[in-house]
Amino acid sequence: MILMGPPGAGKGTQAKLLEQRFQVPHVSSGDLLRAAVKRKTPLGKQAKRFMDRGELVPDEILLGAIEERLHQDDCANGVILDGFPRTLAQGTALKSMLAKMGLRIDHVLSFNVPREDLVKRMSGRRTCRDCGAMYHIIFDPPLNPGMCNKCNGELYQRDDDQEDTILARLDVHERQTAPLLAAYRECGLLREVDGIGSQDQVLNRILNLVQAHE
Ligand code: AMP
Repeated sequence: MILMGPPGAGKGTQAKLLEQRFQVPHVSSGDLLRAAVKRKTPLGKQAKRFMDRGELVPDEILLGAIEERLHQDDCANGVILDGFPRTLAQGTALKSMLAKMGLRIDHVLSFNVPREDLVKRMSGRRTCRDCGAMYHIIFDPPLNPGMCNKCNGELYQRDDDQEDTILARLDVHERQTAPLLAAYRECGLLREVDGIGSQDQVLNRILNLVQAHE
């Protein structure tokens, strides 16, 4: 299953719920890259300057890391991909990676959320430095400001969740993903999800769409 949609559309949140539901891992290209940046690996050092500007990390840097992740044992029965692929070229690369693994794409979920809502959601987003849990200063605040409910870790705002970078990321997203969305629509894999509402409402919409296309 592939989750597509602009940054802030709720893909990460739904991916975690779908992971539990379908018992296959959530593979997020953004999380893979952020982990590499944190560990200061060669991949992380190369990717960081693109991520800080809200630009896509070039395929020469990213594709090897995705393929390596997909070959880990837990992905043998399927994955929920979040944030990858984003371009036609990445879609083609994914198709050949999956073919080698004997997997196919069942559903491409595209999350629709108006731009004003995306900016509000992303600029209030806070993440725990230690365990990665996510909060929102208005919609889902932590019990103690700046502190994670689960592990007491420090909450921070991602560098790329500042307003200027958010707008740049939305522009890049629209430009780059439109052709890939069109391609998936054409081959009948695209399921459009209204991303406004509670986590459970959105999850139920997704489950209904998946069931309708089984
Ligand atoms: P995300 O967490 O999906 O919003 O991704 C954060 C940042 O990681 C993006 O702004 C890009 O710089 C980079 N990134 C994530 N996924 C991809 C991808 N599929 N292709 C290129 N860059 C990516």
